[in-house]
Amino acid sequence: MTIATDHDVLVIGSGPAGLSAGIFTGRAGLDTLIVNDGNSILQRNAHLENYPGFPAGVNSRLLLEMMDDQAERAGCQRHEAHIETLERTDGGFVAEVESGKTFTTTYVVAATRNTVDFLEGVEGVEFIERGKTFLKTDDRGRTGVPGLYAAGRLALQPYQTIIVAGHGASVGVAVVEDSDVPFYHDWVAPEGYFTGRGREVPPGCEEIDSAERERRETESLERMRKYFAERHPDEPIQHPSVREE
Ligand SMILES: Cc1cc2nc3c(=O)[nH]c(=O)nc-3n(C[C@H](O)[C@H](O)[C@H](O)COP(=O)(O)OP(=O)(O)OC[C@H]3O[C@@H](n4cnc5c(N)ncnc54)[C@H](O)[C@@H]3O)c2cc1C
Repeated sequence: MTIATDHDVLVIGSGPAGLSAGIFTGRAGLDTLIVNDGNSILQRNAHLENYPGFPAGVNSRLLLEMMDDQAERAGCQRHEAHIETLERTDGGFVAEVESGKTFTTTYVVAATRNTVDFLEGVEGVEFIERGKTFLKTDDRGRTGVPGLYAAGRLALQPYQTIIVAGHGASVGVAVVEDSDVPFYHDWVAPEGYFTGRGREVPPGCEEIDSAERERRETESLERMRKYFAERHPDEPIQHPSVREE
């Protein structure tokens, strides 16, 4: 018997990998909960200069805030807590946080960089030890355990923000493809792009007319102006072993 779960997808970790995965699963209509505790290691960066789209670089804390906002707009729910344990159930997984609260979910995307202790009770997970611990996955983040995926640095991706974000997106799309949600691509196309050729708009895609395009672009401009109106207040987080004077 398959037991109904509270969520379709539980993303553990809200660094660039986890947030990107959530943006794709949320936009596909999967009920997605992102649970995070602590800081993304990207908050230690001083100025992010190799993330495409920002010719003069961008404040990495601002970028994370913008990704977070985007995940929320994609429909993701957020919860701040440390996942202590993960167990398989008939219909998926149950995750427990330090307060004893539990979340049930069909799919799990682990995007916790090198934190793996919560996975110790999950039979079939293969760890890779290279000074730090990583998870063995296929090229779309699938671990050997059905329904359990790993994204970003945890899946041994190169330690670069654009790569872990892209990998998170790829894993998010893999979850959608493995689920019951009909999906072609997550595309927003101009009106007529499919229907003008006598095709149905494929699942996951959307056609918008010029008025809607103008509305969305105007909203985007306003939002970006707010984000980039002044310097971000947060300083980079220093390495814990660096002594403060
Ligand atoms: C000093 C420094 C400078 C850098 N500069 C650059 C740069 O210039 N360009 C570049 O491309 N990359 C840079 N990076 C690398 C970049 O930060 C990483 O590639 C990226 O952050 C990895 O993303 P991730 O999502 O895999 O992990 P993270 O961003 O670390 O996210 C993991 C999240 O999971 C949370 N978490 C862990 N365990 C649990 C748990 N059990 N329950 C709940 N939450 C949990 C963590 O607290 C964290 O928020 C830099 C890194 C450092 C340290």
